[in-house]
Amino acid sequence: MPLSHGRPYLAIPGPSVMPDRVLRAMHRAAPNIYTGELVELTHGLIPDLKAIARTDGKVAIYIANGHGAWEAALANVLSPGDTILALATGRFGHGWAEMAAGLGVEVEVMDFGETAPNDLAAVEARLKADSEGRIKAVTSVHVDTSTGILNDIAGLRTALDRAGHGALLMADCIASLACDRFEMDAWGVDVMVAASQKGLMTPPGLGFVFFNDRAAAARQTAGCVTRHWDWTDRSAPELYYQFFNGTAPTHHLYGLREALDMIGEEGIEAVWARHDALARAIWAAVAAWGQGGAMRLNVAEAASRSRAITSVELSDPDGERLRAWCEEKAGVTLGIGLGRTPPDAFFRIGHMGHVNAHMVLGVLGVMDAGLKALGIPHGSGAVEAAARVVADAAA
Ligand SMILES: *Cc1c(COP(=O)(O)O)cnc(C)c1O
Repeated sequence: MPLSHGRPYLAIPGPSVMPDRVLRAMHRAAPNIYTGELVELTHGLIPDLKAIARTDGKVAIYIANGHGAWEAALANVLSPGDTILALATGRFGHGWAEMAAGLGVEVEVMDFGETAPNDLAAVEARLKADSEGRIKAVTSVHVDTSTGILNDIAGLRTALDRAGHGALLMADCIASLACDRFEMDAWGVDVMVAASQKGLMTPPGLGFVFFNDRAAAARQTAGCVTRHWDWTDRSAPELYYQFFNGTAPTHHLYGLREALDMIGEEGIEAVWARHDALARAIWAAVAAWGQGGAMRLNVAEAASRSRAITSVELSDPDGERLRAWCEEKAGVTLGIGLGRTPPDAFFRIGHMGHVNAHMVLGVLGVMDAGLKALGIPHGSGAVEAAARVVADAAA
């Protein structure tokens, strides 16, 4: 008998749960895009986006998903034939590298596998060896959504500085923005990409590229840039109505305005702390299950785990069996083992954005039921361990 009737819960790592407030803000007639409320609203988004990214730099908004933001960021600072160093700790690091290759950029990939973060000593050594300065940019995901790995972006800046290398530091914060602590300026990030549908709690369709003065200088010689992706006009407030090279994404902007208000009301530090506590509750549960079975966290080191998405390895095909059970019997959809081998051994839990303690404890309770229903060996006390983390964090 399915027990799934009721409000379904999409616990995949994007698109994330959309708050009712965001949905309501979008439920309205088409506005005038040339004057009035929408124009004011668009202006107001910029400082709030920059505050969340912790930057005094600029931000360009595109009608695009994360893939579009990836291409926009690369196109504005690179020319065909340039070389970049692309760090990979999962599928998304490779994806950004492939986007660069598609622009005619020479891409050198440093692949650090699927269970540990960037090896910063290896990156530093590679940059030191580039005495001619051929590498124009280093790309890294902050959180790789396929593996749940959290990379140390401040440490990557230190590696570049220690190597005395002038490459641009480019970070993909699509999964991590407003989930894991990120400090663009303090960490010396030159270009950062984000998208609307993860920590920013808005439907997919808005891409963001944040950039500083060094990146703006690189734009002057960038041969890959096209009229559509050019960030110059899009980041100039006086040209606001051309931000989008056409019709503004009207309803997305209303939704984003509401989402940014929600983040502002909670406070970004509190948003990060909430994600931290809820992630630790999930890790505690998985550790307990693993005491009596095959389940384990994909990333062994807690310091290298994302607070937005957790990747879990079970066994083939029990990972997929559990995922399917949770969806069919209990109305909770977990993420697939994207890009992993074998895919059915893995699943992912999205806990980004509009997620609170009852949602996370609900997911964990359902998973516990699924393990029992399917006869998958597991340790006991997982939900109890998670409840303890929640109780302590809330105290
Ligand atoms: C989701 C995601 C992307 C891709 O974003 P799309 O909107 O699906 O194109 C890229 N990088 C990371 C880290 C992501 O989480």
